[in-house]
Order: sequence, then structure tokens, then C-alpha cells
Amino acid sequence: MSENLFHPPIGKQVFLADYDPDYHEGDKKHAEEQLSDLQKRLFALQERLYAENKQSLLIILQAMDAAGKDSTIRKVFEGVNPQGVQVSSFKKPTEIELAHDFLWRIHQRVPAKGMIGVFNRSHYEDVLVVRVNNLVPEAVWRKRYDHINHFERLLADSGTRILKFYLNISKAEQKKQLQERLDDPTKHWKFSIADLPVRHQWDDYMRAFEDVFTLCNTDYAPWYIIPSNTRWYRTLTITKIIVHTLEDMNPQYPEPEEGLDKVVIPD
Ligand code: AMP
Ligand code: MG
Repeated sequence: MSENLFHPPIGKQVFLADYDPDYHEGDKKHAEEQLSDLQKRLFALQERLYAENKQSLLIILQAMDAAGKDSTIRKVFEGVNPQGVQVSSFKKPTEIELAHDFLWRIHQRVPAKGMIGVFNRSHYEDVLVVRVNNLVPEAVWRKRYDHINHFERLLADSGTRILKFYLNISKAEQKKQLQERLDDPTKHWKFSIADLPVRHQWDDYMRAFEDVFTLCNTDYAPWYIIPSNTRWYRTLTITKIIVHTLEDMNPQYPEPEEGLDKVVIPD
């Protein structure tokens, strides 16, 4: 798999029609073996990142409802020391959050040095749900693409690597997943009748996502459009990209204190 396959060229208009949500290769059994190997590498890399305490990794997940953001987070990070990973889920802003600029609540949750931060939704909601539902005037959301690029540049310049994943599912797959939630009483809590109009807004969302991938795709904060109709392939692909990125960041254990070789632990 070439990871660049899923990373749109920077500066070019993105059309989601060019990205097949059904795409996958290999088989599930082999994928599970690969995943377990990658999870071991992720565990070791996270430990080094934490010990080094100089860089951080921010992972942003965006998708339509029921695309599998929650289960992606669960699967990818199931083997990692919870102390080094901070997951933030961004919901409808509170009154206090709305009384500030749209990045205020986001900035408080970016990962500190040594940490992996995972965003389940993010500042991109402010040019997605907000744009599609006209929650602010166009003159306000239009400027946000620039604000976002500058904000992400600030983070990158401060030692944060950024990876942005779009879980690309088809409209038919969303229907299937929503139906599963409806059929399974243990998933009812995830189902909201208020989410259903989003199905009628599907095309508006796709246009809004295309603008995000066109205007906010940079070398310091790249987007990846991950085929996500096949869940095992989605999980494997995202884990691979995260592991390869951490390998590239190459965190190092810090130099030990001088004189450790002469230390005798007192009785
Ligand atoms: P969930 O992720 O299913 O718990 O749903 C969270 C909800 O919060 C989704 O419907 C999002 O669209 C909504 N949301 C997140 N951020 C914003 C925002 N900045 N403005 C309005 N709605 C938002
Ligand atoms: Mg939901």
C-alpha cells in the first residue's frame, strides 16, 4: 500500500468521487496479523515519545455520522499506555465556548510534549456542520480555512506532528451502520432521530468536505482520505500511517543522568 494513494496532492481541487470508499486490498486474516505487529511497534514508539518529552503527535478524525470514528480510536490504540494518549471529543459548543473564537476550546486540548492527542471531531466542524447549517454567516466561516492553516502551522512549528484522517464511507454504508444501531439495543444510545436530516444534506456535506481537503491540506498537516466501508482495512491503513509517522519522528530516550553507572541503591 502506498500511503500517498490516500493523501490528495497539495493545492489541487479534491473531488471525493475520485476516492472509492470500498477500496481495500489483502484479506481480513492477514490484516489482523499485520495490525497486531503494528500495535506492538506503536506501543514502543509511544513509550519513546513520552520519555523523550520533546515532540507530540496530533491525530484528527473527521467523518459523517456512524462512519466508525469511535471504533477506530478503540482499535488503533487498544495496546497503548493510556497515560500517553489523550482523546478529546468535540460536541456542540457550550455557551462559554461560543463566547470565544472557534479555536479557543481546541487549543486547550492539543497534545503537550511527549503526548499523542486524538481529536474525535475537531475545529473542522466549524467549516462543516456550521457551514452546511448556516450557523454563522458565510463571511465568517470563509475566513476559517486561513485561520485553521495558520493555527496548524503554529502547532507544527511548536513540535507537533499533525495527521488528519477522513473516514470515507458511502451513503449506503452509512444507512447500513445506522440501521445496525437501530437494531441493537446496546447501540440505541448512539442513535439520535435528530441526526437523520443529515442524510438529506449528504451532498452539501460532501462539498464542504471537498473544500476542507482542498484548502486545508498542507505538508505540515496533511489530510488522508481513508476508504472506510471495509472496517478492518480502515483500521489497518490508519495504524500504518500513524506508525510510519512516529518512526519518522524517531523519538529517542533521553541521555541518562551522569554517573548512573556508579550508583548503588542504598539498603
Ligand atoms: P457525536 O460525535 O455523535 O457525539 O456528535 C457530536 C455532535 O456535535 C455532532 O452532531 C457534531 O456535528 C456536533 N458538533 C461538533 N462540533 C460542533 C460545532 N463546532 N458546531 C456545531 N456542532 C458541532
Ligand atoms: Mg453521533
